[in-house]
Amino acid sequence: MKVQKWFCPLYRADIAEGKCLDINYERLGYLDGGCLAEVTRLTGKREPDISKTCELCPNLPFDDLEGTVSFPRQGIPDRPDSDHAER
Ligand code: SF4
Repeated sequence: MKVQKWFCPLYRADIAEGKCLDINYERLGYLDGGCLAEVTRLTGKREPDISKTCELCPNLPFDDLEGTVSFPRQGIPDRPDSDHAER
């Protein structure tokens, strides 16, 4: 499987999709893996500048800023609404 990469304005270089996700999960508070510390060490950027850069980035992997990951749906049929009914 080929690793997806794209240009990251934070690093000013291509990074792997997983690195981008880790950075974003950490800045949104879902992880604490040292990614933001690494960004600061390598780029000198700190919060809130890191979040400002990600929020303006065309590669931001979220539909919104609440942490919903947006991947293309390929070949996955929509489920009927009845499957999502609240009980
Ligand atoms: S969303 Fe943030 S971490 Fe991901 S590529 Fe853009 S600037 Fe880099």
